[in-house]
Amino acid sequence: MDCLFCKIIAGEIPSYKVYEDEFVYAFLDINPTSRGHTVVIPKIHIERFTEMAPEDVGRLFRSVSQVARGIEQILSIHGSNIGINNGEVAGQIVPHVHVHIIPRREDDNGGSMHSIVNMPGDTSDLEELADVIRGAF
Ligand code: AMP
Ligand code: ZN
Repeated sequence: MDCLFCKIIAGEIPSYKVYEDEFVYAFLDINPTSRGHTVVIPKIHIERFTEMAPEDVGRLFRSVSQVARGIEQILSIHGSNIGINNGEVAGQIVPHVHVHIIPRREDDNGGSMHSIVNMPGDTSDLEELADVIRGAF
């Protein structure tokens, strides 16, 4: 499999592992946005988060929670941004699902989810929009 993260899991490319279990592998991001920036990946190769089976999502996020809690405790951090760039248009570069854990500090000058994009479109029809989206379920 010609996938960077599959090669990291297989040990063919070195990584700074911080955690591993049956289903996930977690390692330090090589280009961190904050100290302790960690990436958690499922060991199975799937490109997109929205393609994952529900039970696999559960397993992934149980481990993400555990890793985030561990990082916060050991590095004395009081918060983090936990997120996924889901698809190329959303900034996903490596086509293997990965969850970023970005430790946050009081003085880091960072933003929140609202700083990712700011093009809300029309907000006068939110009830209509919610109705459209409910149609998916
Ligand atoms: P994304 O934009 O969500 O696809 O992010 C991919 C992330 O993987 C980026 O934050 C990269 O810095 C990180 N990354 C790429 N190659 C490596 C590597 N060999 N070891 C650790 N992290 C990597
Ligand atoms: Zn892969």
